[in-house]
Amino acid sequence: MAGDFVDVLIVGAGLSGIGAAAHLQRLCPERSVAILEARETLGGTWDLFRYPGVRSDSDMHTLGYSFRPWTEARSIADGRSILEYLQATARETGVDRLIHYRHRVRSASWSSDAARWTVEAERESGERVVFECAFLLVCSGYYDYAEGYTPGFPGLERYCGRVVHPQHWTDDIDHAGKRVVVIGSGATAVTLVPELARTAAQVTMLQRSPSYVLSLPTVDPIARWLQRFAGHRAAHAVTRWKNVLISVGLFKLCRRRPDFAKATLLKLVRQQLGPAYDVETHFTPSYNPWEQRLCFVPDGDLFKAIRSGRASVVTDTIESFTETGLRLASGAVLPADLVVTATGLKLKLVGGLEMSVDGRKLAPAELVNYKGVLFAGVPNFASVFGYTNASWTLKADLAATFVCRLLNHMKQTGARQCVPRVDDADMALQPWVDFSSGYFQRAIDQLPKQGTKKPWKLNHNYLADLVTLRFGAVDDGVMRFS
Ligand SMILES: Cc1cc2nc3c(=O)[nH]c(=O)nc-3n(C[C@H](O)[C@H](O)[C@H](O)COP(=O)(O)OP(=O)(O)OC[C@H]3O[C@@H](n4cnc5c(N)ncnc54)[C@H](O)[C@@H]3O)c2cc1C
Repeated sequence: MAGDFVDVLIVGAGLSGIGAAAHLQRLCPERSVAILEARETLGGTWDLFRYPGVRSDSDMHTLGYSFRPWTEARSIADGRSILEYLQATARETGVDRLIHYRHRVRSASWSSDAARWTVEAERESGERVVFECAFLLVCSGYYDYAEGYTPGFPGLERYCGRVVHPQHWTDDIDHAGKRVVVIGSGATAVTLVPELARTAAQVTMLQRSPSYVLSLPTVDPIARWLQRFAGHRAAHAVTRWKNVLISVGLFKLCRRRPDFAKATLLKLVRQQLGPAYDVETHFTPSYNPWEQRLCFVPDGDLFKAIRSGRASVVTDTIESFTETGLRLASGAVLPADLVVTATGLKLKLVGGLEMSVDGRKLAPAELVNYKGVLFAGVPNFASVFGYTNASWTLKADLAATFVCRLLNHMKQTGARQCVPRVDDADMALQPWVDFSSGYFQRAIDQLPKQGTKKPWKLNHNYLADLVTLRFGAVDDGVMRFS
């Protein structure tokens, strides 16, 4: 394959890369497309994570693609079903035949003279292979596959039990009949706790600070009714819109009326756990709703596990690991046979690629967002980064179809290069995300920036992005074609 040329080269065969290739095939059928994937299989996140109970916390009508209905009764799905959905999508659209597995992309350099990217990938054997493309579309997700984030816990080396990060869960980890401590309070922790509690002797969720947790029905009765009477395609489209409007509305409500949103979320938790439970300590975060990702639990499974006594929540700080468990700042001791560090991910953007434009190296932190898809001064390049406040796929679908519109415009006008340019050199730049979540804050210095006005400011809103990316002019005066 050395030196092969394709019109569009996609990095990553996860949900975003498969979706982007399918959109390209549909909307730009004359363009050749290839996908380079570092792993030996497709699916990304939904293949990598194997911990018990791994599932979506968004509904599958918005986490699924716009073009392929989610037909199952459950709208919150387990990881395996999501992987099967991605595999079936790749198979049915023929995208599976475009994937070159075991190709880790290392670098990409753009030449304005040739109007091409030269992309270097490494095979498993260590052999380097070069591809060339007219447009580079990075769909590499947002975190490091090699390792998750684990803070330095004092005394960890002393502990004699097993410690596992959910990103590295393997089948031989046996939790049945064991005392398990899950460290963390995010989406992964709230997923793991009720699942482990089914067979463990006791599960403790140990958190330094709480998250907002909201129960959602696994089966959406409206979607179910529509599936039965309107058929899968119509049911998917209507349910997707319903859920988009609900999620946009909920996010706006949380941001505009935080006190009301907070009171409502805590009232719902109290209804689940009863008046005797200390909701103030264990389920009342110090921040306002949606300043960090809201945690959803299907059919209140976490609350059921707590009510049954099989799981409990401890809000405290780890002073030190001991040989047999953990000692906490309050003086309490938690015995543990197994410790699961659901302490988060390490952010890694743009697949860790070394990038250059006409010989000038680019660092992710100096990139300035354009419409949430491209970057100022980087020609024929886009990267897909989904929503943090709604389903990832809503943005991934919009980003991919915007790239298709861009490519079609270039075809019509004979342009070979497109590049967004910032005219206002004095425009203030801001962090890329305004989430206070740990994994963003830890990596804030490495993240691209956004501007303070359109089209440099991120919308974080599907409806606003729909207007910009689906219906807005491609030739908007900011994007330069040549
Ligand atoms: C446990 C978990 C649960 C989640 N649940 C939800 C949810 O319910 N709803 C939601 O909206 N989001 C959720 N997310 C976010 C989730 O990552 C996205 O929904 C979605 O799967 C991202 O797809 P992606 O293709 O962009 O990235 P990924 O799934 O991360 O796939 C990226 C692919 O790119 C490949 N790759 C990376 N770098 C390179 C390189 N240099 N060269 C070649 N290949 C490369 C990787 O091997 C991988 O296959 C969850 C994330 C996790 C970790």
